[in-house]
Amino acid sequence: MTGAKNNILEAVGGTPIVKLQKLARHVAADIYVKCEYLNPGGSMKDRVARNIVTDAERRGLLGPGGTIVEATSGNTGMGLALVAALRGYACVFVMPDKMSPEKVAGLRAFGARVVICPTAVEPEDPRSYYQTAKRIVAETPGAFYANQYHNPANPDAHYTSTAPEIWEQTNGEVDVFVAGMGTGGTISGCGRYFKEKKPDFRLVGVDPVGSLYYEYVKTGRMTRPFSYYVEGIGEDFLPTTMNLQLVDEIMRVDDKECFLMTRELVRQEGLFVGGSSGAAVAGAIKYAEATRRKENILVLLPDGAQKYLSKIFDDKWMRENGFLDEPDPLGTVGELLRRKKQRPLISAKKGESVRDVIAAMRDTGFSQLPVLEASGGRLAGIVAESDLLDFLVKGEGGLEASIDALVESDYATVSPATRIALLRNIFNDAKMVVVESGDEIVGVITKIDLIEYLAERRT
Ligand code: PMP
Repeated sequence: MTGAKNNILEAVGGTPIVKLQKLARHVAADIYVKCEYLNPGGSMKDRVARNIVTDAERRGLLGPGGTIVEATSGNTGMGLALVAALRGYACVFVMPDKMSPEKVAGLRAFGARVVICPTAVEPEDPRSYYQTAKRIVAETPGAFYANQYHNPANPDAHYTSTAPEIWEQTNGEVDVFVAGMGTGGTISGCGRYFKEKKPDFRLVGVDPVGSLYYEYVKTGRMTRPFSYYVEGIGEDFLPTTMNLQLVDEIMRVDDKECFLMTRELVRQEGLFVGGSSGAAVAGAIKYAEATRRKENILVLLPDGAQKYLSKIFDDKWMRENGFLDEPDPLGTVGELLRRKKQRPLISAKKGESVRDVIAAMRDTGFSQLPVLEASGGRLAGIVAESDLLDFLVKGEGGLEASIDALVESDYATVSPATRIALLRNIFNDAKMVVVESGDEIVGVITKIDLIEYLAERRT
């Protein structure tokens, strides 16, 4: 019949670009959104799934009777399940346990097998969702591992589909592209295309507090990741699908601002989107507030609200987790810093001698110090008593040696808005928490600071 698509895969893409009406009225830039949540499988991952499967078929890695296996936060799974339904493949999806029940149910609706794994384990741990997926591939005949974190067909899907579509729709009038950073497929694929088209094009990534991209881009250090609630963005390792060289600026957002922005996008703009869309828009608005340029910013909205109705859109869940604009019973990192006896921030500098750092620790009684770059004041890492002890025991250098080789990454960074409740888990892994507001260090917190703060609130 005239006007019909041959199948639902032909309906992937062609999503509208819409101008924000209310939420960005206070900034000079015009902010537009690309409604990728309107794809048939519910997210921009439909494009990725279609490309990954077609590429695997072309290369002979997937054929009749085959099984597609993937470690997914849900959307790639939905896309793959859709493609698999049409092309007759079976699917097994491995998911972290923090994912919304709606996502699991959605995948099962397509007849897929879903295996749930713990979030709070290292990626190398055999229980992690990455390792479990690999094991299932090895055990299943005819299995193809979609491997979105390392498969170039992921960023390629955005390079060949999302970005050209945006360019055509807007006549190339976009100046800045903003996207949340997960596998990096979106930002790396679109970014490569836009920069080829316009050399002064700017690419802005958005990363949640707890993920390691932000600190890695800013300092080159792999700090301690910790868990957060927003789904689909942020990583605890560096996927090869992520090309950080392309990223001009990275904005950090916390769960609460992501979720409150998501609710506003639905209620004020009528955009029925999920948490990573709120994150991307919150990051874009912060970027526009900082740059104050009159320009066109395009933000990609990856998926829809439906899968988060039991979380972001549920007042009880939001309240229990301290995300509503109500006082949190334990307060925020900012409150802890205000209560902490006002002391100037004690830090060491790159290039300082071991002798001076030992003296500083003795004089202040601190067992670890943040280390700043020799110029500029940015954080370079931390140095702890245990590092100095190892250095002295090994006897490899004198007291005049610089501390640079001892600077380590065993810390996590948070913002003043981070909830105190989150710090408990961070201290399982990290020696120190560094509080940053933008690029500035506004304080450091150690376990004893947290203990004192909590004890004071009890009295
Ligand atoms: N938002 C959601 C909801 C996602 O599922 C993903 C994919 N992990 C992203 C954002 C990030 O996109 P990408 O993997 O292309 O960086």
